[in-house]
Parts: sequence; structure tokens; C-alpha cells
Amino acid sequence: AFSLLLSLQGYMIDEHAAMQARWEEASRETIKKTTKPCPSCHVPVEKNGGCMHMKCPQAQCRFEWCWNCGLEWNRTCMGDHWFD
Ligand SMILES: [Zn+2]
Ligand SMILES: [Zn+2]
Repeated sequence: AFSLLLSLQGYMIDEHAAMQARWEEASRETIKKTTKPCPSCHVPVEKNGGCMHMKCPQAQCRFEWCWNCGLEWNRTCMGDHWFD
């Protein structure tokens, strides 16, 4: 009975670890979809709603760029795909 309890405990720990891993995988996927690296300094920047106009949050950078093109924000972006 003692060894059964031990293996049951081991099983529960494995299940917990598996759940944790799945959860982490899911949150990584979300981050991948809503963040892109700044084209200038490569820090991950979170997308703000349906707006394609991105601004780097880094004080030393403040690069303004287009989520859609991955380039510096320009007139074409503003006229063509400012919003989703
Ligand atoms: Zn930047
Ligand atoms: Zn663009």
C-alpha cells in the first residue's frame, strides 16, 4: 500500500507539471500573437488594439513603426492600414 501511495503522488506531481507546461505554452502563444520586436532596438512591444501604429516603450528608442510592415511609420501605412 505504501508503494502505491508513492506512485500515486508521483503521478499527481507529473500531472501538475504537465498542466503547468501546457499553460505556459498557451501564454507563450498569446505573447507571440500580440507582441513583435521593435525594428530598431528589438525589445518586444505589445500591440495596442486594432491600431497598426506602434511606438517603442523604451525611453532611449521611442521608434515609431508599423505593425503590418515592420518598418518605420509612414504615410502609406497611415492611409492604408492604420486600423485593422
Ligand atoms: Zn525600440
Ligand atoms: Zn504599414
